[in-house]
Amino acid sequence: MVKAINRLTPKFTTNADGTDAVIQMTELVGEVDGPTIGISAAIHGNENTGSQVILELFRLLRDMPLKGRILLLPVANPTALAVNARFSPIDQVDLNRQFPGSLTGTYSQQLAAALTREFFDVIDVSIDLHSGTDRPTVDYVYINNAEDLSRAFGAKVLYRPVVDKQGTVFAGTTKAVTIEKRGIPSVVVELGGGIVDQTPYVTRTVDGVMNMLRHLGTIAGDVRPNPKQVVVNEIQGIRATTGGWIEPLSPANGEEIAGGAPLFRIIHPYTFEVLDEVTAPFTRGIMIMQHLTRNLVHSGDYGWMVGNLDGATD
Ligand SMILES: [Zn+2]
Repeated sequence: MVKAINRLTPKFTTNADGTDAVIQMTELVGEVDGPTIGISAAIHGNENTGSQVILELFRLLRDMPLKGRILLLPVANPTALAVNARFSPIDQVDLNRQFPGSLTGTYSQQLAAALTREFFDVIDVSIDLHSGTDRPTVDYVYINNAEDLSRAFGAKVLYRPVVDKQGTVFAGTTKAVTIEKRGIPSVVVELGGGIVDQTPYVTRTVDGVMNMLRHLGTIAGDVRPNPKQVVVNEIQGIRATTGGWIEPLSPANGEEIAGGAPLFRIIHPYTFEVLDEVTAPFTRGIMIMQHLTRNLVHSGDYGWMVGNLDGATD
């Protein structure tokens, strides 16, 4: 059993309807001292798979002996989650590009500042759960500054982003706080999403995070050996080139795909004409994200991601 379970609801502003805008966290305190592991999800509100994962983690962890503390942030972006949108409807700003945030900025910038103060500044390890949104389904883990911890999740495909000249790939993400400001081990998981049953993705993510917690010594038990893994340094994202029905033609995530092989086609929903057919970009690629069902898309919507196996390592 954990020593204590604390509900933390720090207020960061007042909503227009007069209610308190709060961050909602649950803290699991172990009997034995140790580092604080932060597990967060739904910084993009249409990626609720990780929120489901944190629910399942809570059910498992509340009855286990812990070393240190686990701080659960099941929904980083509550107003976005409530309407199943990537951004908050209040300001339509990408919360995960606003860190470390601003107390005098827009709603999402104020939320980012509060998340920095109340969550990211008090944890010693960050595990941030993303998914492919409510449409595409994704499957990879970032290697940032904690390769062993990233690998311990057990994903087949890992991605080590190539750092640009400014030393940052995505300015204003949680990395601005976890890595650049605080230098704490930080892992971003991208798993699940799409209009398909999330159960297998939730199960895999729970399993992966539990193994990371064993790796960290937060919970007892043998660390599971990693599967055969591949680390790519380059991922190409391919958005819908036009609106219409997007029809998947690609192999499953984690499978190899040769350059020129079909990824998807887009069909005019009224004339049934094929508007575009899109093929794989690299000589040797590996599938990372795709729509698994025929979905209606807007031009420019998130579509597919393929990793480059040339230059990839074990
Ligand atoms: Zn995300």
